[in-house]
Amino acid sequence: MLLEALRGWRRERILRRSSLDERLWRQTVRRLRFVRHLSQQDRQRLRNLVVLFLHDKHFATARGLQLTAAMQVWVAAQACILILELGLDYYRGWSGIVLYPEQFVPRHQHTDEIGVVHQGDEPYAGEAWLGGPVVLSWADARGGDYADGVNVVIHEFAHKLDMLNGEANGFPPLHAEMGRQVWAETFRKAYDDFCARVDADEDTLIDPYAGESPGEFFAVLSEAFFETPDVVRDEYPGVYAQLAQFYRQDPVRRLVAHGRRSTAVRG
Ligand SMILES: [Zn+2]
Repeated sequence: MLLEALRGWRRERILRRSSLDERLWRQTVRRLRFVRHLSQQDRQRLRNLVVLFLHDKHFATARGLQLTAAMQVWVAAQACILILELGLDYYRGWSGIVLYPEQFVPRHQHTDEIGVVHQGDEPYAGEAWLGGPVVLSWADARGGDYADGVNVVIHEFAHKLDMLNGEANGFPPLHAEMGRQVWAETFRKAYDDFCARVDADEDTLIDPYAGESPGEFFAVLSEAFFETPDVVRDEYPGVYAQLAQFYRQDPVRRLVAHGRRSTAVRG
């Protein structure tokens, strides 16, 4: 109780002392459809969360990219939509966000299940480290306003939530009222179905990258959940319901309130 009071006090103090340029905030919000659809009250809560996020997290750039306030607010607003109903504590245990000007080739190696060490040479648009930073290609992150279901910022921060209980495996820590078995079965069935559709060369409305692994499936479905929620609800209603419980948000309802449907079309 005391800890909670202290936290609340610290939060109020940061909000009082930190300022976020109102014009910059409005410009950012205008470009993000999933923020535009929030109620006035929720938008204010998101704004407060963004202020706290910017106070807590540390931005750095690589390869001479010039860091601006606009870039930080842009990333923060998208990162915070995921935790609007969860709180900043869900991003605990790490503080760095690194922006590259363009896609980057990770230097680190990884060892696969049979013990083979891989040194990747594929360029990445983003990467989330277990207990470490979120790394983003600014060229990819800046284009998150098209509401096409693809959003590298949401993707990487969804991995961060997944990593709250270890490796990103598509199984984040669930709330007490949720069932682990329901989550596991719902996602497994949807994942198997999706992989079969990708293997059959079907032109899916959801990014085929979701078929890479259960961890990627959760991150990609989270992107779509916020950007094209009606697509997720129509394609995989069970997954939509689980994500709505996990994020404690119902973006389809917000879309309906605005008389909209997603216009996501994949060529
Ligand atoms: Zn990923």
